[in-house]
Amino acid sequence: MQIKILFDSNRLSKEFSVGWGFSCLVGENVLFDTGKSAESLLLNMKSMNLDVSRLEAVVISHEHWDHTGGLWEILKMKEGLRVYACPGFSMAFTTRVKELKGTPVNANKFTKIMDNFYTTGEIPAEYKAKYTPEQALVVRTDMGISVVTGCSHPGIVKMLENIKKAFPSQSLHLVMGGFHLSDKNRRMIRSIVEEFRRLGVKKVGPAHCTGKKATRAFEREYQDNFIPISVGLTLGI
Ligand SMILES: [Zn+2]
Ligand SMILES: [Zn+2]
Repeated sequence: MQIKILFDSNRLSKEFSVGWGFSCLVGENVLFDTGKSAESLLLNMKSMNLDVSRLEAVVISHEHWDHTGGLWEILKMKEGLRVYACPGFSMAFTTRVKELKGTPVNANKFTKIMDNFYTTGEIPAEYKAKYTPEQALVVRTDMGISVVTGCSHPGIVKMLENIKKAFPSQSLHLVMGGFHLSDKNRRMIRSIVEEFRRLGVKKVGPAHCTGKKATRAFEREYQDNFIPISVGLTLGI
């Protein structure tokens, strides 16, 4: 299976649009988050020869603009698209999905999206004193479990522990996405990297809001198993 990075702040070449936010395509037809705008997302999809009409589901990690920005245009282009959200997202979010003829699916616990694709469902979090629930995408392949996160506002280690509990016999092959660690000091970052090791995470791809310090710490620790995430990148899982 492949993951294609569609939006982030780094790019493989100048043809891609970059900025604050995150989006990737997992497998053939599951879109995870939609970046800050449809303009950027659609441009990058076109450059990678990807077609909106092939999408079957969109998983929105959490209700922040840098993850939901491209969703509305995508819905206009593909009627009836399933949109996986958390029950704690705003009423306005669900209403807008319905208005654009999307099919909202609210996941409050581990939910199967299709064979080998799951969402963790709502994991509670608070961001800037506001309830900001978040979900992660979990994919199972022969290599083990791969996890894709948006901003990890609930805490990346807490999210991984939830996933480990749901799949106790599976190994964590890859964890990638935003880990939201730019406000953490070196000691805290070190202990989070150690938690990744303790949980048996084999490969790591920090992106988006992970922060430079933490990204470097993961790179030092994981070396060849560190994946530098850039728009345009295709990685195999
Ligand atoms: Zn974000
Ligand atoms: Zn966020």
